[in-house]
Amino acid sequence: MGAPTAMAKMNQPCTGVKERFTYPRNCGMIVSSTLHLHREVATAMFSYLDHLECTRCGKTYPHTQLSKTSPCCNKVLFARYDLPRLRRELGRDAFNDRRGDMWRFSELMPVADPDNIVTLGEGGTPLLPVPNLGRILGLKNLYVKEEGLNPTGTFKARGIGAAVSKALELGVTGFTMPSAGNAAGAAAAYGARAGTPVKVFMPQDAPAANKKESILAGAELNLVQGLISDAGRISVTVAAEQNLFDLATLKEPYRAEGKKTMGLEIAQQLGWKMPDAIIYPTGGGTGIIGMYKGFQELLELGWVEGRPPKFIAVQAVGCQPIVKAFNEGKDTAEPWQNAETIADGLRVPGPFADYLILKAIRETGGTALAVEDAKMVAAMHELASAEGIIACPEGAATLVGLKRLLAQDFLGPDETIVLLNTGSGYKYLELIEGA
Ligand SMILES: [Zn+2]
Repeated sequence: MGAPTAMAKMNQPCTGVKERFTYPRNCGMIVSSTLHLHREVATAMFSYLDHLECTRCGKTYPHTQLSKTSPCCNKVLFARYDLPRLRRELGRDAFNDRRGDMWRFSELMPVADPDNIVTLGEGGTPLLPVPNLGRILGLKNLYVKEEGLNPTGTFKARGIGAAVSKALELGVTGFTMPSAGNAAGAAAAYGARAGTPVKVFMPQDAPAANKKESILAGAELNLVQGLISDAGRISVTVAAEQNLFDLATLKEPYRAEGKKTMGLEIAQQLGWKMPDAIIYPTGGGTGIIGMYKGFQELLELGWVEGRPPKFIAVQAVGCQPIVKAFNEGKDTAEPWQNAETIADGLRVPGPFADYLILKAIRETGGTALAVEDAKMVAAMHELASAEGIIACPEGAATLVGLKRLLAQDFLGPDETIVLLNTGSGYKYLELIEGA
């Protein structure tokens, strides 16, 4: 016999991550053979992470060392992947039969060794059609991405899961976490899962549920006078003093990668199509930034066609720095004074990545608008009574925004529209009266 046949090669057992890594290139088979790759890679886990890149000036940095913001500009660093190679070596169908959580997209995730993944099953949330609301609003294709089903009840699990996993891979042994609330709970849970200490810093008036889940998961809870911005300053100082790693939003490169998987999932759930619009409650904005990045990667991979969805940022009337900057045509946002809203996740007066949020909105033809607290609570009732979705006030704010944009004819009846419900309403039941 000469060289083994393709079928014989296909049936060879896979003997390890390293071999899996090189197998598609060395096996002599046509790499675009979906069946072959599917068999070998369906259970494989490896990252195509290539380098980090400053989002301001484009300077690149190695991904093999622990990184925070870019040393050149003190701005957000993006993880960049070898997308041309991934495009050659893998097709999108390879993702069909994989694990259900966000790590199904391991090639587009930063963790190199699957043993370093700290997971509680985050991601893989449903994209729920909401036909009852759709009928009321005259929309044929309205969906809710239901992030309330994540571990710790919010989308924060994705970003924290990714950041904690990658930090541990790079040698971190403990974390600090400034948070308006929900990210602290997630950090506490993932720290517990990883067996590492976590110190959380949150405003004194953060939701009781977030304080309690942090305590429950064994984190050190520090309540700070002031807002998330004040908590952030203290968190960074403590991290530096005690050799801990600070997980603040977009001040390390990988929380955005976890949030990115919301976009990858939405595309896959729509049959590898992009929606026309995503309405997103915007505090720190990691979700918009991550999803936009994810859609751009999918386009570069040739796995989707068309253009990324219009990103629509919804903020609270009492804290709307992005809306103001957008309306004034500015590239950055002024910190919002006296920020106040019942939606704790929207109480972010000075988002660090303002320039990236505004870029995503403008480049996709989106918009930004602010909604009243009372209308968020009314929309919580509406989502729950019409569709059975117990949304957080931030998520419900997207429904308020949708109605306004329909009234303005900014969105139309035939468009595929996704409301992003970032968390479970069960953490906000004190907002509901009548019981
Ligand atoms: Zn730079």
